[in-house]
Amino acid sequence: MQINANRDTQVIISGAGPVGLLTALILAQNQISCLVLEAHSTLTHDLRAGTFHPPTLEMLDRVGVTQAMLDIGIRVPKWQSCDLDFGLVAEWDLGLLAQDTTYPFRLHLEQHRLTPLLLERLSPYPHVEVLFDHALTSFVQNEEGVTVEAQSPNGAQKFNCQWLVGADGGRSQVRKSADIEFSGYTWPERYSVISTTYDFAELNYRENAYISDPEQWVAVFKMPDVTESGLWRMTLPVSTEVTDDTALAGPYAQHAIHRVTGAAAEVVYPIVHQSIYNVHQRVAAHLRKGRVLLAGDAAHVNNPLGGFGLNSGIHDAFNLADKLSEVLHGQADDSLMDLYHRQRHTVNVEYVQELSVKNKKNLEEKDPELRSQRRRELQEICADPDRARAYLLNSSMINSIKRAEAIQ
Ligand SMILES: Cc1cc2nc3c(=O)[nH]c(=O)nc-3n(C[C@H](O)[C@H](O)[C@H](O)COP(=O)(O)OP(=O)(O)OC[C@H]3O[C@@H](n4cnc5c(N)ncnc54)[C@H](O)[C@@H]3O)c2cc1C
Repeated sequence: MQINANRDTQVIISGAGPVGLLTALILAQNQISCLVLEAHSTLTHDLRAGTFHPPTLEMLDRVGVTQAMLDIGIRVPKWQSCDLDFGLVAEWDLGLLAQDTTYPFRLHLEQHRLTPLLLERLSPYPHVEVLFDHALTSFVQNEEGVTVEAQSPNGAQKFNCQWLVGADGGRSQVRKSADIEFSGYTWPERYSVISTTYDFAELNYRENAYISDPEQWVAVFKMPDVTESGLWRMTLPVSTEVTDDTALAGPYAQHAIHRVTGAAAEVVYPIVHQSIYNVHQRVAAHLRKGRVLLAGDAAHVNNPLGGFGLNSGIHDAFNLADKLSEVLHGQADDSLMDLYHRQRHTVNVEYVQELSVKNKKNLEEKDPELRSQRRRELQEICADPDRARAYLLNSSMINSIKRAEAIQ
């Protein structure tokens, strides 16, 4: 066992995903030293988060990342609520938020394009180190600090720090080692993600559309790609009777696209990527235990409808890192980290969990009467600029930030 006890790191972060790297960047800019431990040998290249909301872009601007994201992402000033039979139900104009945010649009950009930007911005800071191939396996804490054990190609290693941040995803080892309950549930169906170069704009879909259907709803997103027409990503539920192998096979993807386009069966669409995910609604009972803090998916997971998962993880990172910097600079006592828990836990339950479940239920509603009632409701809200703005303040997460700030 190699002991790195002489390293004077104030904060160790487990996980070099977007939340872990961002937490490190904010701490670094606040003159706090940190060490990021990442289990994999490189940054992960997965097609998960792809939608960034206005308050997230405002926050990322503070650390010098937003402009680079705008340069490569796709701005989505309007998004649609649709119905597979009925067609367009409502078109939401984020321009109504022009008074509320500097960025009145959604930005489409995969998270694997964000993490290299974050890593690059960490490199000038001598007080930050990122160690790949280092998987946190356990830790012990006392009143003075935390000792972390990690598995590396050179065997087990120990590192000391004052605070440990678990940003190691939904299966967080930090959360498990801290014995923090992750209460909630897992949906029976899985979600399929299918990417195609077929241009859904040909069917008058905006860059983002949620298409309800009692049998199989679909969410479509245009993502940046080498070609102008972009890469279109579809997310849809896979019922429990369908095996993973079937859902990952070409005919399943073709059928899913045909259901939306209505094209003749012999039309074959180009498929670039297919994957399948389990989907959960869970929130950690505590985001702080002594000198250990949780952020991002380690702290909460939700279905992706509304694009809240990573956005809320980014909001955690700013809240956590700013408060922890104050504590480490001696400007506040450590009870400030309890406020981090109260603010971020509350808004995750009240906004992220509630809205993502509501979005899912609306898209999959089977009762024809409730479906048409919901369509009428959306049309009425959308037609009234005041009500539409109120709706967008919620769906764009602006209200969740205000609610967190109001909690003391
Ligand atoms: C299909 C799908 C679509 C989504 N779309 C959106 C969207 O549009 N908008 C949105 O906001 N969110 C979306 N999400 C959610 C989003 O992907 C997650 O919320 C986000 O990845 C969380 O980031 P994170 O850094 O907390 O965790 P992760 O991205 O999971 O990163 C965790 C990191 O920790 C590392 N790690 C794990 N264990 C250890 C260990 N023991 N030691 C060291 N390192 C470890 C992992 O290798 C990984 O690099 C989507 C999710 C899915 C499944």
